Amino acid sequence: MNLTNHQVRLAARPTGLPDASSWEVTTELVPAPASNEFVVEVSHLSIDPAMRGWMNDVRSYIPPVEIGAVMRALALGQVTASEHPDFAVGDHVSGAFGVQEFARSDGSGVNKVDPALAPLPTYLGALGITGITAYFGLLDVGRLKEGETVVVSGAAGSVGSVAGQIAKLRGCRVIGIAGGPEKCAWTVDELTFDAAIDYKSEDVRQALRGHAPDRVDVFFDNVGGDVLDAVLTRLARGARIVISGGISQYNATQIRGPSNYLALIAARGTMTGFVVFDYLPRYQEAITELAGWLREGKLVSREHVVEGGVQAFPETLLKLFAGENIGKLVLAVS
Ligand code: NAP
Repeated sequence: MNLTNHQVRLAARPTGLPDASSWEVTTELVPAPASNEFVVEVSHLSIDPAMRGWMNDVRSYIPPVEIGAVMRALALGQVTASEHPDFAVGDHVSGAFGVQEFARSDGSGVNKVDPALAPLPTYLGALGITGITAYFGLLDVGRLKEGETVVVSGAAGSVGSVAGQIAKLRGCRVIGIAGGPEKCAWTVDELTFDAAIDYKSEDVRQALRGHAPDRVDVFFDNVGGDVLDAVLTRLARGARIVISGGISQYNATQIRGPSNYLALIAARGTMTGFVVFDYLPRYQEAITELAGWLREGKLVSREHVVEGGVQAFPETLLKLFAGENIGKLVLAVS
């Protein structure tokens, strides 16, 4: 058995993109479980844009990661030792185990997952937090109605790809916005979106005139910045903008807000932020429906799995900001 536990800790708070000076790799002995605890060997780490925000010392929906602490990360793993009545050796579990090879847990926030029902990485994608974010963001915050025109940014990413598919399943016209021809082709050819706009080579506002002549009822925004500004100019009356995230601003030293927000007045529109954790009591509702669609072949879950172990975490995180992932970015650990 592996007796060492490699961990990635936050060494310094970055300005702009994190680099090597942001991180420290430490080695400890694998912990032993105390009474009512168990130890998990981490197999997969969820690589999330939100991690960049957790590195900042600012007030948010969750406290920042402290300097010197193991970097916070949602993860999957298998129980290797247990003194807990509800978790047995061999159980597959998901939880906030952090960027490390082994984690000790008292079971708080930990759920069992069944690798017989779906491949493990899917529990970080369509059946995980990003799938749940897409589900409640679109249906609850966005109050989606059948037949509406929906625009999704970050459309080939983890949240965006699921959000667009849910809108299709609800009978909507869906336009994705993504970076590059490969991502755009994937959303149309495999995810059956009605159209896609490559924001890196097209004028988004102009393209929306063609793809959404009746304007946009719901905009599920993952990126903010120029893309948000462009969609703001094409709102239908009563439009809802769902602020899921704003990845274009996560490394900015000066955040740029939307300059076209006054368009909300004429549209009688709303722009609403949300945090998926607030839906915790209703997670099962989303998972049941998402799992049903997956089982019936109505929902595609794509995971972009990078091999390399915890040492590869710093460079893997940067892939999100370079747009190298299609679908859910996952780092395989063991
Ligand atoms: P993701 O979309 O799988 O990956 C990030 C993608 O963002 C990249 O692949 C890239 O795609 C795009 N991107 C990067 N830099 C960009 C830029 N400057 N301008 C435009 N696009 C850029 O990530 P995810 O995990 O699904 O997360 C998507 C969003 O959901 C994030 O904003 C995240 O914070 C948010 N989120 C919110 C909640 C919540 O509770 N509100 C929960 C989970 C996630 P391109 O190649 O297309 O540029």
